[in-house]
Amino acid sequence: MTRHLGIVGGGLSGLALAHRAVQAGVRVTLLEASERFGGQLSSVRDDGFVVELGAEGFVARSEAVPALARALAIEDQLIGQLATTSHRWDGEKLVALAPGEAAEALSFQVARADKGSGIRTFMGGMQAVTDAVVRALEGHVHATLQTRSPVRALACAASGSAVLLDGDARASADVVVLATSGASAARILRASAGFGSDVRSAAEHVGAAQTLSSVTVTLAFRAEDVAHPLDGTGFVVAEPFEGFRACTFISSKFSPRVPEGHVSLRVFFRPTAEELHAEVPWAERAARVLGKVLPLRAAPVRAWVSIWPHALPVFTPEHREAVAKLSAALAPHAVFLAGSAFHGSGIDAAVRSANDVAEALGIR
Ligand SMILES: Cc1cc2nc3c(=O)[nH]c(=O)nc-3n(C[C@H](O)[C@H](O)[C@H](O)COP(=O)(O)OP(=O)(O)OC[C@H]3O[C@@H](n4cnc5c(N)ncnc54)[C@H](O)[C@@H]3O)c2cc1C
Repeated sequence: MTRHLGIVGGGLSGLALAHRAVQAGVRVTLLEASERFGGQLSSVRDDGFVVELGAEGFVARSEAVPALARALAIEDQLIGQLATTSHRWDGEKLVALAPGEAAEALSFQVARADKGSGIRTFMGGMQAVTDAVVRALEGHVHATLQTRSPVRALACAASGSAVLLDGDARASADVVVLATSGASAARILRASAGFGSDVRSAAEHVGAAQTLSSVTVTLAFRAEDVAHPLDGTGFVVAEPFEGFRACTFISSKFSPRVPEGHVSLRVFFRPTAEELHAEVPWAERAARVLGKVLPLRAAPVRAWVSIWPHALPVFTPEHREAVAKLSAALAPHAVFLAGSAFHGSGIDAAVRSANDVAEALGIR
């Protein structure tokens, strides 16, 4: 079994793997580029509001996420949806949809059976799960977790099979797992010594895979300023305009997410490439487009904007094939891939991917 595991990336997949490895007695060094752990799980608790800047919840049929929650002793914080009916804005009115139709309209890349089954989350937001891993591992004798530590390259060390992680921090490990985006993994491998043309060419394909960007704006209103019962999970926009694709009625969908007397709605945009590089007043745009659908009597009292450039991988057959080729080319070098950039979109896929890598490494 692996003795020292190096993990690049402190999102859910890297952290879930780190937790499992440490529980099994494996030494772990996890290096995260940004100033925080959690990656695409990012929850803000602010003045009684619980706001998701990243993912909102995981498919309700997931077994992997509740199992992780159990291992972290936070299973009692799991919550389901209060409302289940989704709607479509047809340009004039909101029309109720059958279960699964909203997920279909938004092209969610999850199993057909997961569409329409709803989602679950944690009382304090999805980041509760990555926070719990960090709490469990910080100070653990077998775990070194560092933020602000971008890995720029890997190198096979002269002695034995150790792999050197090179960047702002340096570490060596018996096995390295890249739990990053596809583009990041490709950049790291491009800059790395000791890999053949098979790794380089597969990495280029993985790095060039199509991704989607997302901008979300959560708006908080005084309840009396929204003249609509907000009875449902939200709506999808049949003909997206100004990039506006969907809205979640957060305070109707999950409890407790707002202080007394307030409601919160999350507006989803698909930005254009130009908008990603421009100063777009997203909060104002969100309030404006929402006002075309819902009768708003006053401006929002708070707004939280989150911008995710190229965050969501698109799982075409070509991307799956490139990932399979890259995984096969990396395995002899004791380098593995984990996470939803490689093994399926979403939270459940990220945790299952971490579990699969653990199994492959004999970590049980
Ligand atoms: C707006 C939004 C909404 C979403 N909603 C949902 C949802 O409702 N349900 C759902 O199931 N999924 C949703 N998702 C997707 C879900 O959040 C992701 O699939 C999942 O969190 C990915 O986890 P991960 O660990 O694989 O990757 P990430 O969370 O992307 O983590 C990768 C980590 O690697 C780090 N990294 C990158 N390069 C380096 C480097 N060189 N050195 C060190 N560290 C590096 C990054 O900083 C990052 O922290 C959403 C995503 C977004 C953006």
